[in-house]
Amino acid sequence: MELDRGLCRTDTRCVRPGPIHLLTCPRCGAFAKDRTIGSGSSMGARFWTDGKGDMPMLPQRPEVARCQACGLVHFPKDATRAGTMTIVEELGAQSYALRVTAIRRKSIPLFSLLRLKVGAWSEEALFAALPVTVATGLTHLQAGSRAEVLEKMGAEVEYVVTIREGYEGPTPREWIEAPDLAPPGERDLLATLARGDFAPNREAVLTLRIKAWQAGNDARRGADSVAAVAWSNEAAENLEALVALLSEDDPDERLMKAEALRELGRFETCLALLARPLPGKYEIVVRTIRSLAERNVPGVAELRGSF
Ligand SMILES: [Zn+2]
Repeated sequence: MELDRGLCRTDTRCVRPGPIHLLTCPRCGAFAKDRTIGSGSSMGARFWTDGKGDMPMLPQRPEVARCQACGLVHFPKDATRAGTMTIVEELGAQSYALRVTAIRRKSIPLFSLLRLKVGAWSEEALFAALPVTVATGLTHLQAGSRAEVLEKMGAEVEYVVTIREGYEGPTPREWIEAPDLAPPGERDLLATLARGDFAPNREAVLTLRIKAWQAGNDARRGADSVAAVAWSNEAAENLEALVALLSEDDPDERLMKAEALRELGRFETCLALLARPLPGKYEIVVRTIRSLAERNVPGVAELRGSF
């Protein structure tokens, strides 16, 4: 457990916030905060061979979100906007939320608590719902002691710290209490794909498959990319389906396809795709993927160089 790890999107030391749009879930109508950025910087940005970029000082709205009330995976760009809140002041007081990020040991109290929060019964649904926010509005001390109890129950816990915000004009309480838009995990994405929720929409399916792949890779980022990659059956099927879906005529898609093939261990096919010329702006990516494929290395790797 680390103190103060997690998002500090409302912390002006990192990022100057812009207006917050209130989006409604297309299924259950629950609100979620879509935070915009007034100004930020690309300082500390990291990019990876699978196309993922982390920009801590310039957080982006998640392209795909998971409703924290009903679990629906949806595209925030298509969600209805119920209103906008403008932050006028930082009130300064910090509050803490606790999130269960993993289940280290199965225990009855932990499952009872998660069932209450998630509103689902099966163990599978509870695992799929992680991370789950189990407490909000805590002081530092309260958060510390609650986290200790949760860890004894077998949970892995993360703190999320928020600086209390003030808003312009009258603002409904349910807007203030709405959670931030949050991206879905690998299991949610794979389950959405398996149900065929977006099946007729190529762009949507493409995005969901890429996000599921990147989410699966999250646990491997920064680790040794030489190590063998153990994909679950569902994740491997997703990657195969992505390879089949990606076009070789579009340069962006061809590059992504080459990387997916490398991560599946199909190094020769990867190198054959990279042999066709790609625009100069991809030079660092192409060089990195090619060098890994030539050495039969399948893991996701960070891109080094200037962008
Ligand atoms: Zn919902």
